[in-house]
Amino acid sequence: MSVVMKFGGTSVADPDAIERLIAIVRKERAPVVVVSALAKVTDELVAVAGLAEAGEAVRAAAALQQQLDRHLAVATAVTTANREQTLAHVRAEFDELIGLVHALAVLREVSPRSLDAVLSIGEVVSSRIVAAALADHGVPAEWIDARSVLVTDAEHNGAAPDMEATRARVQASVVPHTARGGTVVLGGFVGSTGGGLTTTLGRGGSDYSAAIFGASIGAREIQIWTDVDGMLTADPRVVPKPRLVPRLTFAEASELAYFGAKVLHPSTILPAVDRNIPVRILNSRRPDNPGTLIAADSAAAGGPLAALACKRDVTVVDITSTRMLMAHGFLRRLFEVFERFKTAVDVVTTSEVSVSVTVDDTRRLDAVVENLQHFAEVSLEPEMAIICAVGENLRSDPTLFARAVTSLGCVPLRLVSQAASRRNITFVLRDGDVPQAMAQLHEAFF
Ligand code: ASP
Ligand code: MG
Repeated sequence: MSVVMKFGGTSVADPDAIERLIAIVRKERAPVVVVSALAKVTDELVAVAGLAEAGEAVRAAAALQQQLDRHLAVATAVTTANREQTLAHVRAEFDELIGLVHALAVLREVSPRSLDAVLSIGEVVSSRIVAAALADHGVPAEWIDARSVLVTDAEHNGAAPDMEATRARVQASVVPHTARGGTVVLGGFVGSTGGGLTTTLGRGGSDYSAAIFGASIGAREIQIWTDVDGMLTADPRVVPKPRLVPRLTFAEASELAYFGAKVLHPSTILPAVDRNIPVRILNSRRPDNPGTLIAADSAAAGGPLAALACKRDVTVVDITSTRMLMAHGFLRRLFEVFERFKTAVDVVTTSEVSVSVTVDDTRRLDAVVENLQHFAEVSLEPEMAIICAVGENLRSDPTLFARAVTSLGCVPLRLVSQAASRRNITFVLRDGDVPQAMAQLHEAFF
C-alpha cells in the first residue's frame, strides 16, 4: 500500500528544499506526492487578484512577471532532461494567468470563481516542477493534474470534495501508476467541479487534498512534511522548552487545533480519520526525526497529558438573567444572537443565573451585546485567555484534574470547564497570567 506524502510551501520553497524533497521521496516505494505552491506564492496571487480588482493592471502584470521569473529559476535549477519542457509548461500556465488577470483588471472584478482560477496556478506549476525534478533524479514520477481528479462542489474558495467521484477518478488515473511502482505527483489545494470549473479547498487546503487522496487510495499512512518537528507539548512562544509529542489521537489533535496549535488542522484530515489512516507530521529539514503520529488509537501517549494549548486575547461575555434563565428556550435565544452576528463562542459555562462564554472574534460583539441586552444583563471582560490541557488519560485518571488545578497555584482562574468527552480541561484566565500558568502546568506534566 502506498503512502501519501504532502510537502508544504516551505518544503518546496527553493531548489535546496526540492533537493531535500527528492531525497525523502526516493526512499518510499510508489508514493503519491502532494505539493503546495512554493512558499508565499498563494499570498502573492491573492495580492495580484487584489490589484486586478483595483484596476491596477500594470502592477498586477509586474507582480506576475516576478512570480514567473521565480518559478523559471527554480525549475531551471532542479531539472535537466525535462528542463525545456518544464519551462514551457510554466510559461504557458503563466501566459494564461497573465491574460486572465489583465481581463479581470479591465473589469475590476474578481469573483470567487475567478479567484480560484488565479490561485490554482501556484499548485499547478509547483507540482509540475516537482514531478519533472523527481523524474530527472531517477524517480519514476508522473504528474497528474489534480483538477482532473479531485472533484468538488461549486463553493469556490472553500470547496468540499465529492469523495465518491474523486475516489473513482483516483482509482482510474492515479492507482494504475502506483500499482506499477510509479510515483505520482499532484498539486494540493485545487480541484474542479463536476462541470470542470477550477475550485480550491480554502487556504491551507493542501493538507485536505492529501487526506482526500489518502482516503481515495486507501493509503497506509499520510505524511505531512513541514518545517517543524511535529506537534509540541506547548507553544514555544509561551513555554521556553516544549517537548515533541510523539503520538496523539485524532480526538486530541482536534482539541489542540481548536485551541490554536497551528501545525495541522484536524478538520482537514477528516477523510483520513474516517478511513482510519494514520497521519504523521514530519520535518523535511530533519527527515530522520520520528515526528508526531496522529492515529485513531490512544496507545502510549507517554506522559499523563498529550499537550497544552492556549488561545490569547479572548473576551469573556457574562450573560445574566434571573428572569429568563430557568425558562426553556433561553439558551436557544441567547445563542441565536451569537449566530445572527456570526460570532463563534469557544468555552461555555453556566450557573443557575448566568451563562459565560468566550469570544475570540470581537468584530461584531457590540451588536451581540446590544441584542442580548434586550433580555439579559451583559458584561464584558476583555484581555482574557483560554488554556487547554489535552489528554486521553484525563478520562481514566481522575486525579489529573486536581493535579492540573493544583499546579496553577495562586493564578486566579476565571472559568474552568471539563468537556463531556473528558479529554480536556479548559481554564479561562487573565491573558497576563498565561506565561506563568503555562509554565507551571508544563512543569507539572512534561
Ligand atoms: N497554497 C495554499 C495556501 O497557501 C494551500 C496550502 O499551502 O496548503 O493556502
Ligand atoms: Mg500550508
